[in-house]
Amino acid sequence: MADQGMKAVQKNNFSETFRLFYEHESLSKKDIAQTLGNSLPTVSTNLTTLLERGLILKDGRFTGARGRRADRYILNPSAFGCVGLEIFREFVSIVLLGANGAVRQQHQLMIDFKNEPGYYKKISQEIRNFVSDSEFDEGEIIGLGVGVQGLVSSDGQEILYGKILNMTGVTTDVFQRYLPYPVYFVHDADAVAITEQHVAKRQADAVYLSIGEHLGTAMMVDGQIYHGTFGSSGTMEHISINSKYGRRCYCGRRGCLETYASISALLHGRTENLDQFFELLNVGDEKALERWNSYLDHLAHAIVNLQMFADNTIVLAGDLARFINQDTLQRLQKRIAKISPFPEIAAHLEIGKADRYVVAEGAGLPYLQAYIDSI
Ligand SMILES: [Zn+2]
Repeated sequence: MADQGMKAVQKNNFSETFRLFYEHESLSKKDIAQTLGNSLPTVSTNLTTLLERGLILKDGRFTGARGRRADRYILNPSAFGCVGLEIFREFVSIVLLGANGAVRQQHQLMIDFKNEPGYYKKISQEIRNFVSDSEFDEGEIIGLGVGVQGLVSSDGQEILYGKILNMTGVTTDVFQRYLPYPVYFVHDADAVAITEQHVAKRQADAVYLSIGEHLGTAMMVDGQIYHGTFGSSGTMEHISINSKYGRRCYCGRRGCLETYASISALLHGRTENLDQFFELLNVGDEKALERWNSYLDHLAHAIVNLQMFADNTIVLAGDLARFINQDTLQRLQKRIAKISPFPEIAAHLEIGKADRYVVAEGAGLPYLQAYIDSI
């Protein structure tokens, strides 16, 4: 028993050491010993094994105020990879994440969504070609995460609610039969939160508003998406306080936040895109300004409501994020102060930092992180 206990400690130690490389750009032996409270000989043994297994690399030496020029170690981004996919109505985005979670390669394929076997077969083939053109062998790919517009089962194997693309009931089997590595689904709003948390290296809890064609929301608590006891927490986009007379939502109800704070709500059935809208706004178009002000009013209400039950940093992410600047945040803050029941409590707003392929990236990251923890 004692021997088994010791082995468990050693394994844990080893996993923790590798996890540390995922969390830091580079480390010295001393950094690891100090962070984990391990002895230097233990750290040396773990480093040797990690180097032998190709999981980390020696990357020169540290310079400057670190005393002796200590060896610098980094995670080997090519040790293994994970694929992330996002399905849109008219195209798909595919990314390949390296072992450090950074995007190594990306691709977009124009293809109309069809919930039928030929569609999933074509995408799977495209993914296999994408991988074979990469630095990775297929055997080095640990999994495929698929970001979907819908709620997924807790094991990530089935779409429980997917009205936007009519994907309710679809299981990962539609891809799995064509691919040699595990496939799982991730709710797209969760994927945005996961990417944002990763890119900003944020440790604190946060609420994410993913403002795209549709609105998505997610709560990050203790580094994990908070799904609640029964699984569907974090779908605040369907909070409604005017279900009788509010705007009609795709969920079948009325007055949901989705119908006021999504990009669809801002563009309101027009054929223009966001770039065109903000061009109008920038040249002082009065109608555009009216719509923008009305949109910000509604967004402020949405934020105040979210703040009522989770007073965390609220991150405005998704497609709209690149059009939001500090001036917009100030205008939102003013509105919030006017309507909040607790105006003395400031809302902590931040702008999302992630760029393109946000959902595909966030779909790949959870499996990658779980895999790292299993090493
Ligand atoms: Zn709704």
